[in-house]
Amino acid sequence: MKVLVTGGAGFIGSHLAEHLLDAGHSVLAVDDLSTGSVENVSGLQGRDGFELRVGDVTDSDLMKAAVDASDSVVHLAAAVGVRLIIEKPVHTIQTNVHGTQVVLNAAIALKKPVLIASTSEVYGKSTKIPFSEDDDLVLGPTRHSRWAYACSKALDEWLALAYATEHGLPVTVVRLFNTVGPRQSGRYGMVLPNFVRQALAGEKITVFGTGTQSRCFSHVRDVVRALELLMHTPAARGGVYNIGGAEEITIQALAEKVREHAGSTSQIVNVPYEQAYASGFEDMMRRVPCVSKLQATIGFVPDTPLDRIVVDVIDEHRRAM
Ligand code: UDP
Repeated sequence: MKVLVTGGAGFIGSHLAEHLLDAGHSVLAVDDLSTGSVENVSGLQGRDGFELRVGDVTDSDLMKAAVDASDSVVHLAAAVGVRLIIEKPVHTIQTNVHGTQVVLNAAIALKKPVLIASTSEVYGKSTKIPFSEDDDLVLGPTRHSRWAYACSKALDEWLALAYATEHGLPVTVVRLFNTVGPRQSGRYGMVLPNFVRQALAGEKITVFGTGTQSRCFSHVRDVVRALELLMHTPAARGGVYNIGGAEEITIQALAEKVREHAGSTSQIVNVPYEQAYASGFEDMMRRVPCVSKLQATIGFVPDTPLDRIVVDVIDEHRRAM
């Protein structure tokens, strides 16, 4: 099978491409190399069945040709990273909403199956833990651009499900929860690569806010496995699925874990949100997925222990030093 992976040179996209090639599929990656990079796919470039086309998902001619050349689509291309989203809200809304519509439109003629990547951000400030797919979404006010990201991805979900209803398009929606692992860049604000870089450099480890906010991290290897299984599960079509790990940790405890595994003596410091992002920034205090629907559908949920994940990321950073 030939799979079109939009955002295929990004962090998750490059791992998915590798996983699909290993499973015997061909991969057509489309990426504008904005947050992705050729370096991410340098190990795949010479492999049979891999092709990278550099271009924008909002380019409808490019996307039509790419979708027509493929049997199935995984749409990962998006504006990602809290920092990028706050700095470039117009770009975020445009890429996420328009890009998704272009991909869905390109798929309707031949009804190609499309898997749309959404995010746990859509749960917003919900305090109903764990987050289940049918829960209400609780977003903050429009003057905080963070919620524009959540809203743009929620709109992607609505669009995908609307194409399913109105055009019979086979779509599956996934909400990814804090996916981490090798090749993730800290440039756009993601916490784990930042902490690891700081710990290895002996710099201060910067915990934003009080550090009592918590997340569940999953290894990108587990996430791409779940994506492939869902892609091959017709019963999943028309559904929304959380993909995440069950191990919850506060950001303060994460900083301590990173420091310990890195054998670092870095000081852990708290940085107020206004200093880290922008004034009036609103964080999500707890973000925990309910993964029973995923487990029931594909018989698998991300389960790599966080200690293992942290060690993997540290090892990768050490190799690159
Ligand atoms: N964070 C932090 N230090 C950093 C980067 C992020 O303390 O250098 C915090 C951030 O405020 C959030 C959590 O770590 O509470 C996870 O941030 P990330 O951007 O990785 O993902 P999010 O869950 O916010 O989408």
